[in-house]
Amino acid sequence: MAEIKTSVPRRRFDVVIVGAGGSGMRASLQLARAGLNVAVLSKVFPTRSHTVAAQGGIGASLGNMSEDNWHYHFYDTVKGSDWLGDQDAIEFMCREAPKVVYELEHFGMPFDRNADGTIYQRPFGGHTANYGEKPVQRACAAADRTGHAMLHTLYQQNVKARTQFFVEWMALDLIRDSEGDVLGVTALEMETGEVYILEAKTTLFATGGAGRIYAASTNAFINTGDGLGMAARAGIPLEDMEFWQFHPTGVAGAGVLLTEGCRGEGAILRNVNGERFMERYAPTLKDLAPRDFVSRCMDQEIKEGRGCGPNKDYINLDMTHLGGDTILKRLPSVFEIGHNFANVDITKEPIPVVPTIHYQMGGIPTNIHGQVVVPKNGNPNAVVNGLYAVGECSCVSVHGANRLGTNSLLDLLVFGRAAGNHIVDAFKRADQAHKPLPADAADYSLSRIARLDGSSSGEYAQDVANDLRNTMQKHAAVFRTQELMTAGTVEVAKLRERVANITLKDKSKVFNTARIEALEVENLIESAQATIESAAARHECRGAHTVKDYERGADDPQFPLGRNDAEWMKHTLWYSQGNRLEYKPVNLKPLTVDSVPPKVRTF
Ligand SMILES: Cc1cc2nc3c(=O)[nH]c(=O)nc-3n(C[C@H](O)[C@H](O)[C@H](O)COP(=O)(O)OP(=O)(O)OC[C@H]3O[C@@H](n4cnc5c(N)ncnc54)[C@H](O)[C@@H]3O)c2cc1C
Repeated sequence: MAEIKTSVPRRRFDVVIVGAGGSGMRASLQLARAGLNVAVLSKVFPTRSHTVAAQGGIGASLGNMSEDNWHYHFYDTVKGSDWLGDQDAIEFMCREAPKVVYELEHFGMPFDRNADGTIYQRPFGGHTANYGEKPVQRACAAADRTGHAMLHTLYQQNVKARTQFFVEWMALDLIRDSEGDVLGVTALEMETGEVYILEAKTTLFATGGAGRIYAASTNAFINTGDGLGMAARAGIPLEDMEFWQFHPTGVAGAGVLLTEGCRGEGAILRNVNGERFMERYAPTLKDLAPRDFVSRCMDQEIKEGRGCGPNKDYINLDMTHLGGDTILKRLPSVFEIGHNFANVDITKEPIPVVPTIHYQMGGIPTNIHGQVVVPKNGNPNAVVNGLYAVGECSCVSVHGANRLGTNSLLDLLVFGRAAGNHIVDAFKRADQAHKPLPADAADYSLSRIARLDGSSSGEYAQDVANDLRNTMQKHAAVFRTQELMTAGTVEVAKLRERVANITLKDKSKVFNTARIEALEVENLIESAQATIESAAARHECRGAHTVKDYERGADDPQFPLGRNDAEWMKHTLWYSQGNRLEYKPVNLKPLTVDSVPPKVRTF
């Protein structure tokens, strides 16, 4: 075995999982139960991962409360994705959905119940019965604390299965050898400031989203896209990063999320005239049209002077007609959020909301087993040996250009489980060995830290991060223009230079959160640049990517609603090295059923 030049401490595992959210813990559970030696790293205590904040529900066609089947779910998800989702992956997810939800139920998940004892399901945006005919009740919910219940359930099962958790450890970089195989990660133990090499036969990223590249975000502060940063620095492209979901109902001014479950339970969006304006834009689904659609309509109302409040800059979400009992039973957290963040009693008055950044549809490219794939020798989806990715940091792609609510928690369960199973099978098939580490395995991470520690001048991480967030907010918003996006590429390139010049005032090692923040900004810049470069290059409107310059009517014969399938029905791949773009085809072929052919996306 090659000698490591540095005296970096090393530990060895069968599998290292970075991330203890829903996806990481669903994967680790499969592995620990199969008797593999698995370590799960997390920047925070596992049950504080962002999955804990998920409110509305998990999508699965159980049909407990209205007629439903996975074919409807499949159709809705393809249409929701604006035909950028891969139909094999979407079929796999929708078919597996009931199974993973029942499994979760058997793990002890405290779902709300119907009178007959079955799992309670509420309607959600874009989920329909009979191929778009009417809303369906598909979101399996535990009040408005579904993610909280799910994350705690998975944590308890992992404790039982003896998963090893490394809490308050931050993975820094991937270790790849000269053949490109992944051999583990370097990681920083926050308590001591010490850097370790964590060797693994298989490494799995479950690091969540990068929602903190925007200024107004529903995301936790830890959502800095570290997995995306590590992948990008290690030469792996990021897929479809131009597609960011704005959630229609963030509390105006605060950014805190009010679940779509509010509208699922019957809440209504109203403009300054009290009008239920969604009836005009989406006659069938109304307030329950998909998120990209509703967010744009709200923005339109505000732009046309029908916003509410003294500055006419927000929309009212009205729940007063639901009654106090329903609100306290089904939406208790929303009631508290109204009180704490808007000083509003939602049982008595409407609450001000604005579209707020929420979710990244893109991420690290994978196949349906969770294996990371990159273009190589003419194969657009060649497997990277030893590396998997699941959850929000990955792009399978089931969400395409726009995710339907409740499909993310589902994605975590389905693909966390699938990746776990695939890894276990690989270990069963052949004896997996640790490959020899390259001699410079830790040098890159150590040099990044040494630069920070050696810096005596430069800017503070939070100043650069704030400017980055404001830049993204301005240049890659709900409605985009070509001019703004192109200018954004220049701004973000300048920010990258500033990131390289960040300084650290406090150089101490023990629990130095300033050092961690500086390292996080090095990850943020990768996601931000991937986003702005991919967006500026996509000359059409699709899903969450709506560009004024390319907007057309629904009846435009060539580009209905601005979508250009002939040229742009393809996935973007952004490479950090050389800041360049490539493209790969969308998979329109499901596994067993007929393809859903592209059509105009109206609701
Ligand atoms: C407020 C809110 C409400 C939502 N509601 C719903 C909903 O009702 N239904 C739905 O389907 N979706 C919902 N979503 C989306 C969904 O919750 C997320 O997409 C999903 O939970 C992400 O899970 P994850 O496992 O990928 O990552 P996360 O839960 O974000 O976990 C990421 C993990 O990675 C760790 N990590 C990150 N970087 C590092 C590093 N460098 N080193 C070590 N560890 C690291 C973190 O500590 C954490 O443990 C919601 C999202 C938000 C923000």
